[in-house]
Amino acid sequence: MKLSKNFIPTLKELPADALMPSHQLMLRAGMIRQLAAGVFTFLPFGYRVLKKVINILREEIDAIGGQEFFMPALNPIEIWEQTNRVEAMGDVMFHIKNRDGLVLAPTHEEIITFHARQHIQSYKVLPQIWYQIQTKFRNEPRPKSGIMRGRQFFMKDAYSLDSSWEGLDISYQKHYEAYKKIFDRCNIKYFIVGASSGAMGGKQSQEFMVESEFGEDTCAVCEKCDYAANLEVASSKVEPCGRIDNDLQIEAFPTPNAKTIDELIEQFNLSEDRLAKSVVYIADSKPVLILMLGNDELNETKLQVVLAAAAIRPAEPNELLQYTGANAGSIGPVNLKENIKIIADNRLLGANNMVSGANKDGFHNKNIDLERDAKIDGYFDLRVAQSGESCPNCGAPIKIVNAIELGHIFKLGTRYSEALGATFLDEKGEEHPIIMGSYGIGVERIIACFIETHHDDKGIIWKKPLNPFDAHLLGLNMNKFEEVKELCDNLYEELRQSGIDLLYDDRNESPGVKFNDADLLGIPYQIIVSKKNIEAGCVEVKIRETGERKQVKINEIIKLIREQEKQ
Ligand code: ATP
Ligand code: MG
Repeated sequence: MKLSKNFIPTLKELPADALMPSHQLMLRAGMIRQLAAGVFTFLPFGYRVLKKVINILREEIDAIGGQEFFMPALNPIEIWEQTNRVEAMGDVMFHIKNRDGLVLAPTHEEIITFHARQHIQSYKVLPQIWYQIQTKFRNEPRPKSGIMRGRQFFMKDAYSLDSSWEGLDISYQKHYEAYKKIFDRCNIKYFIVGASSGAMGGKQSQEFMVESEFGEDTCAVCEKCDYAANLEVASSKVEPCGRIDNDLQIEAFPTPNAKTIDELIEQFNLSEDRLAKSVVYIADSKPVLILMLGNDELNETKLQVVLAAAAIRPAEPNELLQYTGANAGSIGPVNLKENIKIIADNRLLGANNMVSGANKDGFHNKNIDLERDAKIDGYFDLRVAQSGESCPNCGAPIKIVNAIELGHIFKLGTRYSEALGATFLDEKGEEHPIIMGSYGIGVERIIACFIETHHDDKGIIWKKPLNPFDAHLLGLNMNKFEEVKELCDNLYEELRQSGIDLLYDDRNESPGVKFNDADLLGIPYQIIVSKKNIEAGCVEVKIRETGERKQVKINEIIKLIREQEKQ
């Protein structure tokens, strides 16, 4: 492809607003352009890479028996209502204003299950793996990481349909292995974490992550064993606060200027492990009071799973008053205005001598014995694990890292097939819901994650198989020296005929401009043709990754590229 005739609009300046290196470089290298927040056009140079990623995804999912579908982005809302996911998706789902009853699909579990219900009757046609590479729409709140978090993006989403739980294990494992192959082929360094299966059912789930300071996910990773979990589900070994040997009676005391745990500690010389913080949540429209020890942070994902709720949210100030009789900062488990459900974190199991709000503004209770004075409905692991705490498997310290989620594999079970009535008949003629799995990969995220780990201060460093071109031919001062132009034109034809996908910089630009653009675009080999080299019967080949330059005889260029590619 000749650069003079083609559209690769490179930018010299760092684009304002783009924070992540991948976002900056994709804009600067003319791969993408933003049309609106979270909405991007792929320009030809970027689209070449996108197509290569899609091919790899297709090959690997075909290899495990996947059959490719193409489902519409416009979905009837009824199907989503039947699975209760209109509420669960909340604002993330785009609703269409001038056409009632249609939404833009953020994912396709519902539609796959709809088709399974239409056509699967017997165990004889199971298992099936159905997939697509298709556009998803999600109204992401503040998309700020370029194509890493789009409002419109490509997903490879696959779904398995099985007649037994053992079958699901096999389908899941097939995807696990296929995902490893996909990311290995794309030269992406990833790690795998245990993930939340959500509150909507589901058995097991894992995410494929890339460590990055820009990652919006947080993971706990053991420094010694292979424990790794999304912080949403990560646990750690921490001591409970335990009992103190006395039976002091509960007593209210004024705390007009102490609303937070730290203020209580400071003003009343209390110890953090004798303070129980209370918060109220609304879970599927029912109030719940949650007790956490001291400054331990409540993990909302764990809470939602424990409550088996489709949606949870912190209570509004008026709801706090209605249920507890007090405002935030004075709430506690004893003397609530209404009889609401109370749950507590495991660290508070059997605790006494605790301080918590008295449900009267400006007052706390002391000497609360949770067993004696409060009606706790259950103790659960509800806290966010912290860096340095002990690994639940081996006891070594865990560290907390930021990461980008590349893919997610998920044993759904029968949640969707039950809701939509997708059943099959077994050998005995008995009817059962189909057992399902769901497996997603963000196509653009593969590209962005690759660039995050394959670039330097000059630009992108492509590697096979994602490289948009194999080699980049640069003719220096072609308008001055006819022999340079002639050799370049000949090389262009010859190399292309031998199957090398070539980008040819035939523009009337200075060598400096050409070199900078070549490093920015990051094609693996730069073939540099100058008058000086021609006189020596050579061209210069620069390997973008190492910066190494080699003088190569003109008839040996192809051999060099082929040999390098094998390494
Ligand atoms: P995140 O937590 O990053 O929002 P998610 O849990 O919503 O991701 P899934 O619903 O599991 O993601 O979607 C499957 C895959 O689709 C993700 O692993 C990710 O690679 C990709 N993906 C999700 N949301 C986006 C987005 N807004 N833009 C680009 N890719 C996305
Ligand atoms: Mg999301």
